[in-house]
Amino acid sequence: MTSGFSLREELAYFRDLGVSDLYFGGVNGAAPALVPGSMPDLPALQSFIAGCPRCKLAGTRTNIVFGQGNPKADLMFVGEAPGRDEDEQGLAFVGRAGQLLTKIIEAMGRSREDVYIANVLKCRPPNNRNPERDEVASCKPFLHEQIRLISPRAIVTLGTFAAQALLETDEPISRMRGQWRTIRGVRVMPTFHPAFLLRSPERKKDVWEDMKIVRDYLAEK
Ligand code: URA
Repeated sequence: MTSGFSLREELAYFRDLGVSDLYFGGVNGAAPALVPGSMPDLPALQSFIAGCPRCKLAGTRTNIVFGQGNPKADLMFVGEAPGRDEDEQGLAFVGRAGQLLTKIIEAMGRSREDVYIANVLKCRPPNNRNPERDEVASCKPFLHEQIRLISPRAIVTLGTFAAQALLETDEPISRMRGQWRTIRGVRVMPTFHPAFLLRSPERKKDVWEDMKIVRDYLAEK
């Protein structure tokens, strides 16, 4: 059934009410929910979230940062959310913290191209504020679908937020780091965030201990 008014008349009606912005989807807009397990591959998932309107970060981001790397990687790194450089370039971990992550990956005898790098949130929170609960709830299904499609043997979570969000716990990172956890049958190694290491370089040796555990596990066949 239609209202009997043309689109022009409908829009004029809202304009006369003082409405100046239209959100197609928008903050609370209807965008289809992801059916877990429904995406055939990563490009399909990336298309599914193109232009994502499912949370308020849609209004402030420049680019969605889907994640990048080897779609068949045995090792996946998961950070918190894009920062300014990532938001501008549409790529995960390309700023200063990303450069340190590259060194960590290379110290493990790997390259960025043979691992997969993603974040819990695909859009930058304004001024890098902490992710909010509703944003995580909207975005986490996409990370779970990425993990299902990539099917890594191990995931390294970077920092407090990624570990707590993925493992659904409030435990502090200082207690979790260096110990394997499991999520949906995949091993997860929480470690410190490279941005934290830039501020506290004396903790780099802890991360290296954690990465040796991961490297040695992946070397086992
Ligand atoms: N910090 C993150 O957690 N993710 C990025 O992509 C960049 C910085």
